[in-house]
Amino acid sequence: MSAVTAPAPQLTAARQALKRYYGYDNFRPMQGDIIQSILAGNDTVVLMPTGGGKSVCFQIPAVVSEGVCVVVSPLIALMKDQVEALKANGIVAAYINSSVGQSEASDITRAALSGHLKLLYVSPEKLLSDGFLQFLTRVNVSIFAIDEAHCISSWGHDFRPEYTQLGALRQHFPSTPIIALTATADRLTQRDIRTQLHLHEPKVFLSSFDRPNINLVVRPGQDRLGQILDFIGRHPKDAGIIYCLSRKTCETVAQKLQQKGIKAGHYHAGMTPNQRGSVQEAFLQDDLQVIVATIAFGMGIDKSNVRWVMHYNLPKNIEGYYQEIGRAGRDGSPATALLFYSFADVMSMREMVTKDVPQRQAQLNTAKLERMQQFAEAASCRRRILLHYFSEDLGHDCGNCDICRNPPITFDGTLLAQKALSASARTQQRVAINLLIDILRGMRNQAVLQHGYDQLKTYGAGQDLPYLDWYSYVHQMLNDGLFYIAYEEGYALKITERGQQVLKGQLPVSLKKFQVAEKAEKQTRASKKAAADAAAAGSGSPEAKLFERLRQLRKQIADEQGVPPYVVFTDTTLQEMAREQPTSRVAMLSVSGVGMKKFETYGEAFIEAIIQHGPPRPVPNVEDAEEDFAPAPTPRTAAKAADRDVNSTEDTTFQLHRQGLTPDQIAEQRGLVVGTVRAHLERAYAKGLDLRLQDFLSDSQVAEIAAARAQLGGAPALRDLFDHLREKYDYFQLRLAGIKLQRG
Ligand code: ADP
Ligand code: ZN
Repeated sequence: MSAVTAPAPQLTAARQALKRYYGYDNFRPMQGDIIQSILAGNDTVVLMPTGGGKSVCFQIPAVVSEGVCVVVSPLIALMKDQVEALKANGIVAAYINSSVGQSEASDITRAALSGHLKLLYVSPEKLLSDGFLQFLTRVNVSIFAIDEAHCISSWGHDFRPEYTQLGALRQHFPSTPIIALTATADRLTQRDIRTQLHLHEPKVFLSSFDRPNINLVVRPGQDRLGQILDFIGRHPKDAGIIYCLSRKTCETVAQKLQQKGIKAGHYHAGMTPNQRGSVQEAFLQDDLQVIVATIAFGMGIDKSNVRWVMHYNLPKNIEGYYQEIGRAGRDGSPATALLFYSFADVMSMREMVTKDVPQRQAQLNTAKLERMQQFAEAASCRRRILLHYFSEDLGHDCGNCDICRNPPITFDGTLLAQKALSASARTQQRVAINLLIDILRGMRNQAVLQHGYDQLKTYGAGQDLPYLDWYSYVHQMLNDGLFYIAYEEGYALKITERGQQVLKGQLPVSLKKFQVAEKAEKQTRASKKAAADAAAAGSGSPEAKLFERLRQLRKQIADEQGVPPYVVFTDTTLQEMAREQPTSRVAMLSVSGVGMKKFETYGEAFIEAIIQHGPPRPVPNVEDAEEDFAPAPTPRTAAKAADRDVNSTEDTTFQLHRQGLTPDQIAEQRGLVVGTVRAHLERAYAKGLDLRLQDFLSDSQVAEIAAARAQLGGAPALRDLFDHLREKYDYFQLRLAGIKLQRG
């Protein structure tokens, strides 16, 4: 057994900062080690999948160190979002790039010089622009963080020439630690990062690339639109991204979804930056549920509550696929990645990746595409295949992919294989997959009739099987090496040596049969429902309703403040709130994702929503002591008891108020937030109890508020009233005055 050693003091400070600023209790695996490495002054390379939690790795060291952490990030939109998220957590941060005006930029540089700033995000262009590095030498720079560091490598899929000049940093700052972060793990990229940034004996952290919360699903590419509509119909509130290959498809798919009343938008490189910006913005704000995009979309977004990602077309390699599905479920809650697969896609993709490129590159691209195809056609755990690709071994099947949920059945497929091989042989091996299947199934279409294939002996030999089954079996035969595809002959199927042996009855073939997707889906739905019922989280449950209410509140606040909803709280945090129903300061702060600053900014509003939503879980109260002796409540008395809990907690507050305590004192004594106490007092007052109103408002103040209300038409929205009175009164005072005026 390893001895438990006391954490280094620096790490303790880091952990405290994690709780205080982010509201998280623990580091994820690796984050702690990475932070320790950086704080010890090492150059550090972090390879972690999207959503793995890279930002925390440099943000926490930035917060607990003296000086400014300079973050180089390639994407302007992402910079803004990250800085907003940091500010919402109470961390002083800013960004400078081409979108920032001169005077704002000089405010920021001043803040950097004064040491007030903890993180400064800059674009590579800005960093390398005239005089900026000289300026930085006057700033106390704690750390350089190079985000999306794979952009430095021309091997990568995302090469940015500006990045190659970042090597200059080391010359100007020989002893400032550099941390490079990326979600790309391949060896060549890694090597480029080290050498080009002149990292000094860097510590390298390669985290697992597994994203266990993403359910991996591949579906045959028939009726994609119908399948998409069906999926969205079953997840009407969940945000998602659909990736398409062409701009045209993007537009038509988005349009079809809109016609069905779904809030969908399209996004591709053919739009103006303004158009793209506003679509992206609407998606971030949860005003659009679905984005249909070419691959151009996504690098610049940091939305943590994307619940699903679909690939309308086959991606050209696994790296790209993995990066794109990684945009789902970054908050760690369950998410779905759905890939539509058809052989036609493979063919057109093959043409695309080999056209107009040198032969060596074409070979590499083809090999990568083949790996992607193998993944799509897999008959074993998909996650294992993916992780193998990134040189990782999961060690067990994942249980969260379509194959694991719905394992195929193996059977003796020799006869079926012989039918297909024979049909192919009788066409002189001239037909491609679709036509072969048509012949087997006895279809009377033009392609069949034109060549007289309806006269073949094997015509209709497989008409008992549906198209999709044949489709799957022929693909398995391809993977098994019985056929190969002659690309240069219109994708005709050719019989291999092995295929000949099967045809002659010298070699048996085993095939895999998949359950019908519908049925499997129903089964998982049924088992999911059972689990959900058990957790009392079905969509009609009180918990689900509260979650919905909290989501609305989040949206409202986000719109008011002009930030994306997830900057307020993530879905995961709201789910925990709905489950735990925190109504006190301590309880709210113990929810994961509620840090000090967010508590101060939003805590009261959410607590109030939870209280108003309905009977909270009984809070232990002095008055509840009698319950100890009461018989176990029947459902009906339980409901009454819950009612009384609300009343009695309000009563307690009211009594303390009558004894002369201020709301702050009451909150302190009762371990509640002051907002809750105020809500209690408002309700007591509205019920007709006698509040000492003069503690909060003088008669002349009430008169002033009354006059303002009259000016605004009698019953204005509180926010308008608040603005109209130029923030002179808080909402509590405005509401009390409202009640008094109503009471007359
Ligand atoms: P990456 O940059 O690697 O894609 P992020 O830094 O955006 O990932 O983190 C993804 C999500 O995980 C964010 O919502 C972040 O707040 C959350 N997260 C990060 N670290 C932790 C942690 N220790 N505990 C809980 N959530 C965390
Ligand atoms: Zn699996």
